[in-house]
Amino acid sequence: MHYDVIVIGAGSMGMAAGYFLSQSGKKTLLLDAFNPPHDKGSHHGETRIIRYAYGEGVEYVPLALRARDLWQELAQQTGKEIFLQTGVINVGDKNIPFIKNVIKSAEKFDLPLEVMTATEVNEKWEGMQLPDNYLGCFEPTSGVLRVESCIEAYRELAINAGATIRTNSRVIKVDPQTDKVTIYTEDGAIFTADSVIISAGAWAGEILKQLDLKLPLNPIRKTFAWYDVDEKYYNQNDFPAFTFELAESIYYGFPSIDGAGLKVGRHDGGDNINPDEDKLAFGDVVGDVENLNGFLDEFMPREHELKFGKTCMYTMTPDEDFIIDVHPKHNNIAIAAGFSGHGFKFASAVGEVLSDLITKGFTDLDITPFSIKRFSNVGKI
Ligand SMILES: Cc1cc2nc3c(=O)[nH]c(=O)nc-3n(C[C@H](O)[C@H](O)[C@H](O)COP(=O)(O)OP(=O)(O)OC[C@H]3O[C@@H](n4cnc5c(N)ncnc54)[C@H](O)[C@@H]3O)c2cc1C
Repeated sequence: MHYDVIVIGAGSMGMAAGYFLSQSGKKTLLLDAFNPPHDKGSHHGETRIIRYAYGEGVEYVPLALRARDLWQELAQQTGKEIFLQTGVINVGDKNIPFIKNVIKSAEKFDLPLEVMTATEVNEKWEGMQLPDNYLGCFEPTSGVLRVESCIEAYRELAINAGATIRTNSRVIKVDPQTDKVTIYTEDGAIFTADSVIISAGAWAGEILKQLDLKLPLNPIRKTFAWYDVDEKYYNQNDFPAFTFELAESIYYGFPSIDGAGLKVGRHDGGDNINPDEDKLAFGDVVGDVENLNGFLDEFMPREHELKFGKTCMYTMTPDEDFIIDVHPKHNNIAIAAGFSGHGFKFASAVGEVLSDLITKGFTDLDITPFSIKRFSNVGKI
């Protein structure tokens, strides 16, 4: 039961890493507590926005562009519909850092971006109603990833390339020794590997504590919902995916895809949770429904009726930047965690980076903004 590499957590990042590792000829084992794609972690709910002119920071753009190319390759290799080019509009006051960064990213990397006044936005999309002080930054080449299809596609390709996936197999102990790492699962199996990737999403913090790494990873409960709307205004061919950076809150959403309805979520806020405990269902926390209704009433006021909502988890870092690095004391353990509610679009590129860190010891992409070193209390458990 010895492998070249074991991936702990075969979700968004881990499944992609498993694909790249198996492609490179590594004998790879993927262990997951559930059967991915599944709805227990952070990767369910049909859709994820992918955008390249990045409001969270210009430093993300090369990773986003590499991810775009790899998603395209994945679609070609599998014949699956992975990406829908709906375009994405980022809305907000022109003076906020997010909007400034979107414009700066587009300028620096020569990305197509239409910067539109509120009036222009309201004329182009009759389903929107922006007040005068907002800008709309429309990126026509961006759009939507079909999240479960992405994970299924990497799973199929990884298995075809020789990877082993063991589902419903929760890792309970990780024991690094000088020449190998021993992994113990809840159902009594024991495996060893030369190297390990820890990509356990909301559970990563608990596993990393066993390796003397106390990282500031904070799982939170998130909600999102679908609304019945007039398809004439909000269908996927005529309406973009969107982010709204408001004075006190942040919302995002998707056009009605395959007639499923307009999908909306609130990005900021959310209650701390233990990922092992049942989450309160959508609608059970004050604000779940009211916030989304309030957002739509104000900015997309045409008739809308709530169909249903769901819950999911973000794993936040204090600066909302990712953690992609090798363990400070064990250079055969790579870590991908803390994707802070905006990681999925990068999963293809993060998978490649993790595989490179293990197989080559370096990556061509700049991952210094995602280093563990930026947290001062690391290692003090
Ligand atoms: C509602 C919502 C909307 C979002 N919207 C966007 C968006 O529009 N665009 C975007 O880019 N991102 C978005 N995100 C964020 C993105 O989905 C996450 O950042 C990303 O999925 C995190 O990937 P992950 O691999 O860290 O976690 P996951 O995909 O959850 O994978 C972790 C895996 O580890 C497994 N695991 C955990 N513990 C163990 C263990 N002990 N042993 C074995 N396996 C284990 C889990 O079962 C799981 O499969 C959104 C997230 C949510 C919740």
